[in-house]
Amino acid sequence: MTFTVQATVMQTPTRDELEVLSDVVITVDNSESDSSGTITAIEPSSTFTGSIDITLNPDAVLMPGMIDLHIHAPQWPQLGTGLDVPLEQWLFDYTFPLEARYTDLDFAAEVWTDLVTTLLRHGTTTAVYYATQDLAATTLLAETCSDLGQRAFVGRVAMDHPTGTPEWYRDATAQEGIKDSRASIDQIQALGNDLVQPVITPRFIPACSDELLTGLSQLAAESGVRIQTHCSESDWEHGYVLERHGMSDTESLARFGLIQSGTVLAHAAHVSTSDLELLAKSGAGIAHCPLSNAYFGDAVFPARRALDAGVHVGLGTDIAGGSEPGLLAQCAHAVTVSRHLEDGVDASVARSHRGVDDSRISAITAFWMATMGGANLLDAPIGMIEVGRAFDAFVVDPTRSSTSPLRRWDLDDDARWFEKLLRLTRPADIDMIWVDGIQIG
Ligand SMILES: [Zn+2]
Repeated sequence: MTFTVQATVMQTPTRDELEVLSDVVITVDNSESDSSGTITAIEPSSTFTGSIDITLNPDAVLMPGMIDLHIHAPQWPQLGTGLDVPLEQWLFDYTFPLEARYTDLDFAAEVWTDLVTTLLRHGTTTAVYYATQDLAATTLLAETCSDLGQRAFVGRVAMDHPTGTPEWYRDATAQEGIKDSRASIDQIQALGNDLVQPVITPRFIPACSDELLTGLSQLAAESGVRIQTHCSESDWEHGYVLERHGMSDTESLARFGLIQSGTVLAHAAHVSTSDLELLAKSGAGIAHCPLSNAYFGDAVFPARRALDAGVHVGLGTDIAGGSEPGLLAQCAHAVTVSRHLEDGVDASVARSHRGVDDSRISAITAFWMATMGGANLLDAPIGMIEVGRAFDAFVVDPTRSSTSPLRRWDLDDDARWFEKLLRLTRPADIDMIWVDGIQIG
């Protein structure tokens, strides 16, 4: 069995290319087979002879679902708050006390459902989550993603360091942390939903003993499960690793065997040229979190330099270090901060010395990171509306909301319209959403 959607598609097959598929019919397999959810044909509607199940409003646009590479699910209730203190204080004053509450599974269920539902409404069809240190709450997040139909990678947060974590929110020993991380993999895989996968999650080096980092690396080798962690996020965090291990985060994580193909590294605002070379060779990649970095990163991540070096780069909200859900906002922020990096920010410095040349990125590159950049890093057949890929998509309809600023005027060619879609779309403009061929909103 199949179903068909008649639509105009806008997407970014490469970093520099906007592709518009005008008035096409997309055929999606929805049989019970393994290929269910896959796009099997895309044809011009003028030559299509079959029946059409869904016809979009002619003003609407179908876009590939977006991939948020970095979300702290338990931080959802603190979104938009506490952004006035440094990272290390923010963690101990606000974040760890909140994350420790999720042993209360009623609270966890309420937050997880609200978060996943909200992200889907923003067009986030794939999410890479840090859950909490608690095993049961982590499995419950995976179940929630499975029930609500979101494609997700869910990680139990491993953290045992005696000074980098509070005694009331940590794994009792490295061995306990490894045991619970293994159990988390088993429990998430036992859900039997291929769309929801575990991810091994050492919080970051300051929160983990060397013994825990070593054990999690061995667990990754045994299980074949991917890894996520933070890397060179801020001056404090980058400097801490230099002092403790005498090398950069990237080098230290590589030494532990934690940098491998598919490893998701959040932030990386302070990576060096040699760090980028190491990452490019490994197949690991970076979750660029532009808004969060503005508050906690102490620097702008050089997205264009990393892409030019051949490193996988996608986008992340970093809820709640970043104070907005949804990746369209992060696309706009990624463009904005790249301009800050290129132009510089202090007018008292001579123009010739104020910024870093060749740092700006375009709206097209930003959306490519939010879709294909993430898909490439996760090695998942998503990120574009293309035959052979899964049908993960959302519809933006500018006629849907009377209060949204999103309008297409006769002066808006495709390039201008695409920029508007990125900068002006609000959840009220997002209509239908599909994940793996299943309509979930
Ligand atoms: Zn983070």
